[in-house]
Amino acid sequence: MAMDLVYNIDCKHCGSHSEYTTWLDRRSAQHGDEEFALHIDTECAIRCPICRAKLNTTPAAFRSQVTILRVG
Ligand SMILES: [Zn+2]
Repeated sequence: MAMDLVYNIDCKHCGSHSEYTTWLDRRSAQHGDEEFALHIDTECAIRCPICRAKLNTTPAAFRSQVTILRVG
């Protein structure tokens, strides 16, 4: 079952702040937010909607630029 995922993007490339909504399979979210975030980090390319810079080239870059606002 898919679920909505909303995250806040704080892009260090262009300085923009934006919200992004996507969805993931519920099986990905069974282990809590921290492992969920790590799953996102490794499985999905997250790009800035303004400048298209990839935000999750490394786990540290992901954590410093992407914040999960809501899952469900
Ligand atoms: Zn950007």
